[in-house]
Amino acid sequence: MTEYTPMRLPRRRSVAVQVGHVMVGGDAPVVVQSMTNTDTADADATVAQVAALARAGSELVRITVDREESAMAVPRIRERLDRIGVNVPLIGDFHYNGHKLLADFPACAEALAKYRINPGNVGFKGKRDTQFSQIIDIALRHDKPVRIGVNWGSLDQELLTRLMDENAVSANPISAAAVMREAIIQSGLLSAARAEELGMRRDRIILSAKVSQVQDLIAVYADLASRCDYALHLGLTEAGMGTKGIVASSASMGILLQQGIGDTIRVSLTPEPGGDRSREVQVAQELLQVMGFRAFVPVVAACPGCGRTTSTVFQELAGDIQDHIRDSMPEWREKYPGVENLNVAVMGCIVNGPGESKFADIGISLPGTGETPTAPVFIDGEKVATLRGPNIASEFKTMVLDYIER
Ligand code: SF4
Repeated sequence: MTEYTPMRLPRRRSVAVQVGHVMVGGDAPVVVQSMTNTDTADADATVAQVAALARAGSELVRITVDREESAMAVPRIRERLDRIGVNVPLIGDFHYNGHKLLADFPACAEALAKYRINPGNVGFKGKRDTQFSQIIDIALRHDKPVRIGVNWGSLDQELLTRLMDENAVSANPISAAAVMREAIIQSGLLSAARAEELGMRRDRIILSAKVSQVQDLIAVYADLASRCDYALHLGLTEAGMGTKGIVASSASMGILLQQGIGDTIRVSLTPEPGGDRSREVQVAQELLQVMGFRAFVPVVAACPGCGRTTSTVFQELAGDIQDHIRDSMPEWREKYPGVENLNVAVMGCIVNGPGESKFADIGISLPGTGETPTAPVFIDGEKVATLRGPNIASEFKTMVLDYIER
């Protein structure tokens, strides 16, 4: 199998933060994370979804902790996950009342591996300073890191108003959008500085500054990254549904990752009703994999097809193999270390088929319309077989599985 060489692009230097058993930042690979959409108070549903996300490859999972019932459920959720062998660290997402929930439910504070604080609703100004300090104090007592997660939908309005006022009388005023971006950045940096004043070490702080527009996200993170060395959590908030959400998240985070910015990513997709939550994990993994930063699952390369192939055999075969690989990965990861580095090619005709197949670990070039109905198979660059007849697809699948087992 081809040895996978991750891209060694220069990464922004960030302070590494230990979240449970997962390292975020420093020299650690970019971590994939996700968030449940179950009611955390419903422990059954939450355990099932966390387990599914972890099985899909989420290395950290965030859960909402919004009320007493949720806080009470957290230790039970942790225990049950441990019992079924799912050791993914859980992050508590707190807003408004996090200080109270963490103080009143110490078992919840202990069961979580990190607390997310939104400085827009638990800021460090005025009376909310006590709330912010309380959360930091609890994090220090339980030895937990925090993410100071700014979101422009819940931005600290006091800070924004002050910056707008200052801009209005400035000799060199900037645009309202630029003031907004500055407010987002300052909200994160000032809160992190306050957390440090309260005794939190830099290696216990992760920052995020999420917005919903691609260009804003790139501008905010590029600026934030140049102004601090905190580990950064990347994510486009309210990315949207379907292909729009995927494209917007990939475009914005791809550019930032290429610049070495970002230590953990979440792709926030709005699921279709009843849709699979694990899709966001799959997209995050594929983003990191296609950019050459990490390998998670074997890559199945397939040509798009064109008028040279009127049969759907190759699309079906490529889809079948891809589905089979994804479904098998939880087991294969344990059984076949390194399997994620495998490259499979399923090509539609002789034009690019043999060439692409030779570059893959195992590849097949199916016959296009009008071609001799034979399908050469290449393993490690060498032609090893020519398949014929109606069972080409199933025979090739068997060869792929044999290759993996070997
Ligand atoms: Fe078309 Fe053949 Fe290229 Fe596939 S490999 S896109 S079938 S020319």
